[in-house]
Amino acid sequence: MFCKLDDSSLNEILIESVNFVVRRDNYPSSRGHVEVVPRRHVESLFDLTATEMAEAFELMQEARKKIDDQFSPEGYTIGVNDGAAAGRTVDHLHIHLIPRYEGDVEDPRGGIRQILPGPHPDEWAHKS
Ligand SMILES: [Zn+2]
Repeated sequence: MFCKLDDSSLNEILIESVNFVVRRDNYPSSRGHVEVVPRRHVESLFDLTATEMAEAFELMQEARKKIDDQFSPEGYTIGVNDGAAAGRTVDHLHIHLIPRYEGDVEDPRGGIRQILPGPHPDEWAHKS
């Protein structure tokens, strides 16, 4: 599906640049959830060149502006499931931009840290 970004039956494209597109996630985790996807087939974020990374970041900025205008989220979770062990199910890089809303989960503290078992934020040692 990400190898066929030109197929509009598979992809709802919001923004395009030379080497990337921003598409809506097919199974959005929240209102406004999008992905930044390179046109070139790469599996890992680490396969991008520094120039491509800069272009991807520009698109993330543009996407964020659109999402802010349309949905007014209170925050964002930004991430890549890099590798099958990390939960990647489509082997073509996609950078998730997931708008976050107050109360969308009961206790959001720690954010993406909560994908793995670990101490509750109340138990984190205070080192300062
Ligand atoms: Zn691909």
